[in-house]
Amino acid sequence: QTAHQVEIHEEAVTTADGTGIEIAANVGQPAELEDAKAQGADGIGLYRTEFLFLDREQAPDETEQYEAYREALETFPDGRVVVRTLDIGGDKPIPYLDLPEEENPFLGERGIRRSLGPDADLFETQLRALFRAAADGDGCLSIMFPVVATPKELVAALETVERIANTLEEEGIDYAIPELGVMIETPGAVFAAPELAEQVEFLSIGTNDLTQYVMAAARENERVADLRDPRRPAVLRAISRTIKAAHENDAWVGMCGEMAGNPELTELLVGLGLDELSMSAVTVPDVKATVQSIDTETAAENVTRALEASTRDHVIDRIQRNNSNQ
Ligand code: PEP
Ligand code: MG
Repeated sequence: QTAHQVEIHEEAVTTADGTGIEIAANVGQPAELEDAKAQGADGIGLYRTEFLFLDREQAPDETEQYEAYREALETFPDGRVVVRTLDIGGDKPIPYLDLPEEENPFLGERGIRRSLGPDADLFETQLRALFRAAADGDGCLSIMFPVVATPKELVAALETVERIANTLEEEGIDYAIPELGVMIETPGAVFAAPELAEQVEFLSIGTNDLTQYVMAAARENERVADLRDPRRPAVLRAISRTIKAAHENDAWVGMCGEMAGNPELTELLVGLGLDELSMSAVTVPDVKATVQSIDTETAAENVTRALEASTRDHVIDRIQRNNSNQ
């Protein structure tokens, strides 16, 4: 129940001065696809695929995955669907995988680290299903790799991509290599963003993890909740650096952490230069309405001041002043 009813924009929106900003939804269940559509999302900016692997006895096979990815593409035949490869470990255990007991799972074997190691077989099956889904029918399929920390991990993931494509080719199975991207959610990835961006078509900033790792403040720990705020100057500067690196290397750049769904931060995010924002479906109408009121030049000028702020209070003060001037 929202306090005010915001109109649903089914069409893509632009800022007041005509810059297109893609507004997509984050989903983690097939049932959420229709809701994303109903709220006017242009596509899916983050499809968390863990649901396929949870609450079951064994991993889903290629056909089951293929069908799940096709369903997403069919829901958005004119939009982009960004599927994240399996991100387990950390806060996302899977009983049948026999994950190691780690003292610090968030700093342990999670995301791409498992896909390039103990879960290589799952990774290959998932890529096969994705490449087959990308070949059929309408829609633009993209895939991105989670928790990347080094360019070498990306090189290894891209080698797997090549190998899977060659195998499908040899087997005479229809496939297409989707648009490829990397999630920026570790400080290592921020500092390596130029080298990462030059190898892929896009970057997507995961501010939930990026904030936790930049501030060294765990996601579920209430005692450090105050530190874990993406409006902190260190986090904003990490985001800004990532966006510059993407654009200098001809990659587009989006954001799919919770931060992207806060309409009070939309002007800041557009001013920073993001091309796409992906969020919970419920916030799509509000963010689309906000984008339409933004002047990109003013937003960029305001960002310069926000990036110079040395404390979170100054950042918040600047954001609030800018929002009330709209
Ligand atoms: C993130 O880390 O910001 C993100 C979008 O991924 P998840 O919340 O699934 O870790
Ligand atoms: Mg994450």
